[in-house]
Amino acid sequence: MKKELIFLGPPACGKGTQTNRLAEHFGFPHIDTGSLLRAEIASGSENGNIAKQFIDKGQLVPVWLVGDIIKARLSQDDCKDGFILDGFPRSMEQAEMLETIREHIDGDNEVDFRATYFDVDMHVLISRIVNRRSCTNCGEIYNLKTKAPKVEGKCDICGGELTQRKDDNEETAHARFDTYFRETAPLIDYYKNKNVLFTINADGTIDEVWKRLLKVVE
Ligand code: AMP
Repeated sequence: MKKELIFLGPPACGKGTQTNRLAEHFGFPHIDTGSLLRAEIASGSENGNIAKQFIDKGQLVPVWLVGDIIKARLSQDDCKDGFILDGFPRSMEQAEMLETIREHIDGDNEVDFRATYFDVDMHVLISRIVNRRSCTNCGEIYNLKTKAPKVEGKCDICGGELTQRKDDNEETAHARFDTYFRETAPLIDYYKNKNVLFTINADGTIDEVWKRLLKVVE
């Protein structure tokens, strides 16, 4: 049966690292709205310029913009057996939009749809954000405290340059948390009421969290 997996959790809860690995595990595409939007910005498109203004302030990009990107991406052929959707939906409006998109794509076919919530204490998160670096070439994610690269500033895997995301500073991080609690956290109850919510403790090493994740999605 087609598997459609979505993920909820505050900024820096570790979703990106785990869902990348999960996509490889299942052989499904990893669709991450944050990365899609950053690619849109890098392309210099008009939508990218609009998105940038919101991302730099830690606010959600307008729903029409992100909805169009997601609808086009989920309709592609490589999603026909399943997908890993990371970072969407992030508001009630987006959750409703996802329902509409799924009805359009799946019709009456039975689908295994699950939402996994990464539960993690707030104090861990800010530290993760300010220490996070990622490879500009392959996207591998590092943490200067818990997963430092062997050579400073260089990716262990491909030797690419490591940079800090522009919105990974303390001020924007706080704004992103405010946005998360206001807009995204209500989705936990929304999916709980639909009986599709699974919660995992996301405080732990990458391998510990990975084992907990596999238990709820396999
Ligand atoms: P992320 O890489 O998931 O932390 O996302 C970085 C930023 O991209 C967020 O702070 C938002 O500004 C924007 N963004 C990512 N996903 C969405 C979404 N589903 N809806 C609106 N904005 C988003």
